[in-house]
Amino acid sequence: MDDVYRLYNNNASPRVHIKEYFDEYKNMITSTECFIPMKRDKRDYLSLMGVNLGEEEMAMLANYCSIDNLTVEGEMPKIINTRRMRTQEAFDPQLPEDVDLQTIQNLRSRLKLGTKRISYKYQSELFITHDKKTEVESDGECATPGQDILVFVRIYHPFAQRARNAPKTECGSLLRLNNVTAILGSQTLAQLKDKIPCIADYTISKECSNNLDNAVGPMAKDVYKSGFFFIEDTFYNDSRQPTNVDYSTVIQEWAKRRPKLGPFRTAIMENCRIDSLFLRFGYPWVYKHQGGCEHLIVFSDSRLINSDDDLAVAAYPQIVRLRPTSSKFCMICGVYSVQWITMEHERIPHNPCYFCDTCFKSYNYIGKKKVGNFKAYAYPRNTELLRKIEDI
Ligand SMILES: [Zn+2]
Ligand SMILES: [Zn+2]
Repeated sequence: MDDVYRLYNNNASPRVHIKEYFDEYKNMITSTECFIPMKRDKRDYLSLMGVNLGEEEMAMLANYCSIDNLTVEGEMPKIINTRRMRTQEAFDPQLPEDVDLQTIQNLRSRLKLGTKRISYKYQSELFITHDKKTEVESDGECATPGQDILVFVRIYHPFAQRARNAPKTECGSLLRLNNVTAILGSQTLAQLKDKIPCIADYTISKECSNNLDNAVGPMAKDVYKSGFFFIEDTFYNDSRQPTNVDYSTVIQEWAKRRPKLGPFRTAIMENCRIDSLFLRFGYPWVYKHQGGCEHLIVFSDSRLINSDDDLAVAAYPQIVRLRPTSSKFCMICGVYSVQWITMEHERIPHNPCYFCDTCFKSYNYIGKKKVGNFKAYAYPRNTELLRKIEDI
């Protein structure tokens, strides 16, 4: 794997069987006396404290113990906007001089660097807050705090593997995070696949300059449903549709001719529970779909679900962090987002050229008559999402 992709940084965890690991962990914590049942029930707290307090006394105690009481005079106010927390200005430049905490000293020396930009964890990622589903909405099926496992997967944008001597800036060769998805251990790789957003899954590209009305057809993901995950030494193929193609066959044939690679195994994606996997956290694995669209995925974290999480099973897989991407704008007006792409346009110096709907129609058509020679394609769009927005 690292021979082929050369992206692995040797920081991955050892191989872990998720279910076995957490079974052992659950046994360990439930057998200790300090185990707090992971649910929001006042009686559990009271029995743990070994007291029996009335409502009023409990409210008073909660008030005394509130973390709001931990502030002192002159302290920086709590920052509500977490995005702002990542900017340098968020720090008070008047750091206390008489405090010799190592953290303050480190911060002071970092701020003294002045022009050098400080980078923070999650700086480029947006945390997504979801409305928690009620029990009715979730069909009553709920995960159990302290029992069910939550696994976090980093999904990357598609990329093209670069040849060893190719320039670094070659289009599509840079690795960019798309999102971080949380999935339950009891769910399958097929459910994860259905949650991965990719532009290649949207409209099927077809030349439509002579027939704009039929430019947007069905989404590619509704027509071409094949795909696989490659994890450890196994290809997990999507076989939910009889017409699906096994993409792994050709790779296995190719690998047979290379003595250092393989042997590989194949399995069925929809039968593979996440907690049945042997994983190396931090190690890049592959998701492939739509013929040649290839993403790296990294299992980054795992823990038991707790009462602060959304417990409705139907809420998962759930995107918990997202790396925002900028919209692509029309190359003519620079104001509206792209809806059309032209190729080999004889009156435009750009190939391809991106147009918004207004510029495309006003520049290339008189009435419905095409002007000049060019090929036109609809820019990929999530028609399912557009329909939902229109309904609202
Ligand atoms: Zn893709
Ligand atoms: Zn425009």
